[in-house]
Amino acid sequence: MPDSKKKKPPNIDIFKAWCKACGICAAFCPTGVLARDEGGYPYVKEPDKCISCGWCEIRCPDFAITVKKKDKKDRAERDTGDI
Ligand code: SF4
Ligand code: SF4
Repeated sequence: MPDSKKKKPPNIDIFKAWCKACGICAAFCPTGVLARDEGGYPYVKEPDKCISCGWCEIRCPDFAITVKKKDKKDRAERDTGDI
């Protein structure tokens, strides 16, 4: 049986209306998730390689890219209220 410890890739949203195709997000992505199309606009080429570092989101000067983690379970487990 194969190992089922696969992590789900995060959602990467690129809001094209705000994107000016500067290429910063793709340049800063450490794992090559983002590539640029012919017009220079970024697209998610390798979603499985995303490590949710948030660099693309932090570096985008136009708030045009967001990364949402899908790890809701983690948060719920930490939020047990045990003092
Ligand atoms: S969160 Fe990090 S790894 Fe994922 S696309 Fe953005 S820069 Fe790349
Ligand atoms: S850094 Fe922001 S504005 Fe620049 S290409 Fe990426 S999403 Fe578009």
